[in-house]
Amino acid sequence: MTTHYQIVIIGAGTAGIMTAAQLKKKDKNLSIAIIDPSEKHYYQPAWTLVGAGTFDFKKTERKTIDLIPKGVKWVKDYATTFDHDNKIVNTKSSGSLEYDYLVVAPGLVMAPELIEGLPEALEKGVACSNYIDPEFTWEKIKNFKGGNAVFTQPTTPIKCGGAPQKIAYLAADYFRKNKLKDKSNVVFATPGSVIFGVKPIKESLMEVIGHYGIHFKPYYAPIKIDSEKKIIYFKHTSPEENMCVINEDNELGEIASGEEIIEIPFDLLHIAPPQTAPKFIQESKLVNDAGWLDVDHHSMQHKKYPFIFGLGDVAALPTAKTGAAIRKQVPVVVDHLMSLIAQNKLGQMSYNGYSSCPLVTGYGKMILAEFDYASNFTPDPKLKRMLVFNSDKEHWRLWMLKKYGLPYLYWNKMMKGKQV
Ligand SMILES: Cc1cc2nc3c(=O)[nH]c(=O)nc-3n(C[C@H](O)[C@H](O)[C@H](O)COP(=O)(O)OP(=O)(O)OC[C@H]3O[C@@H](n4cnc5c(N)ncnc54)[C@H](O)[C@@H]3O)c2cc1C
Repeated sequence: MTTHYQIVIIGAGTAGIMTAAQLKKKDKNLSIAIIDPSEKHYYQPAWTLVGAGTFDFKKTERKTIDLIPKGVKWVKDYATTFDHDNKIVNTKSSGSLEYDYLVVAPGLVMAPELIEGLPEALEKGVACSNYIDPEFTWEKIKNFKGGNAVFTQPTTPIKCGGAPQKIAYLAADYFRKNKLKDKSNVVFATPGSVIFGVKPIKESLMEVIGHYGIHFKPYYAPIKIDSEKKIIYFKHTSPEENMCVINEDNELGEIASGEEIIEIPFDLLHIAPPQTAPKFIQESKLVNDAGWLDVDHHSMQHKKYPFIFGLGDVAALPTAKTGAAIRKQVPVVVDHLMSLIAQNKLGQMSYNGYSSCPLVTGYGKMILAEFDYASNFTPDPKLKRMLVFNSDKEHWRLWMLKKYGLPYLYWNKMMKGKQV
């Protein structure tokens, strides 16, 4: 059976719900369907705080049905394949949906299998991850008695690129408060060359790292985990000499085998798993060579199929994959869709790559990184109303924004299609 809608949206996550809600606000008569099999919708940004024992996981979860905007049809199913010539999207068991315009927003998926031994380490509870089970991260942090606490970042794009380091700062703060600082080494290992790509933010974060005495390991790409021996292996990615330099005191007990492979024994391991676009997207004609949804960086219109738009984590946009980015992407996509429907031409709005990363640097402290495609630091002028004049520095008011303000805005404004 095929049913026709003016707009079909794949995914009822942050991007899908916001797009549907804003479209309905523009014209309540639009016929819209959202396809999503999940009964639950999560406010994932608070998972960092859940992992540090300072936010209730249950408060990050709502029923999808309660978020579907009035007048929008929820097809509780998986989108599976596409027939672009006939403007059809097929579902697992609810038949086909015909559309005039398609919005693709199914997010991304965790791909732990891309690191040898990681699926097993997660299964056995040897590694924890805020991306998968933040309550288990808190168990691990709470029960840590000392030794090496290793926090990693993968080589693939990930959602909220700052999340892997935020939990390292919170853990370091927790260990300090609980008199474990002298007995522990907190390691933050990333394949990147710097802690953050925006200059003033990078400078502040290097101070945070210094303050906690965190072992910062750039050029460290995680490649293998040995759950039995509790060792993580990294490939050193420095483009210059490809040489890894281990400190003389070697507090961490690092071992370099050859010039490129380094092992670090761990007592606590937090992993940000590699992440990819969902399989049905990767197998479609909609992706670029790297397997992400191939859309124009400014209009988010698909590069080959002008009647398709894509946004959120699945999109191949060279900026950080965050809910904050989606907040700025949605009005642009909605503007183009409304203009195409009314006048058969694109609208006026353009996305500049805005994204933001609330870098929680300890309990009660936060730096707010806001930036665009060119990695310019672009703080929101509205922060001044909160008496925050230097959001590139640690601030208690920013922590309050993260813990209370942003969840409120998310559920009560963003999910309801209101501009924030
Ligand atoms: C630990 C962590 C910390 C974060 N911190 C922040 C932060 O501080 N600030 C911030 O702005 N962002 C943060 N984020 C990122 C933010 O949550 C995501 O960028 C955002 O939720 C992505 O929205 P989305 O709509 O693209 O995907 P999602 O919200 O993940 O939704 C995707 C939806 O698509 C559905 N779907 C998947 N496959 C199919 C299919 N085949 N058919 C139909 N539906 C399908 C899924 O069920 C899901 O409901 C964080 C994320 C994590 C995990």
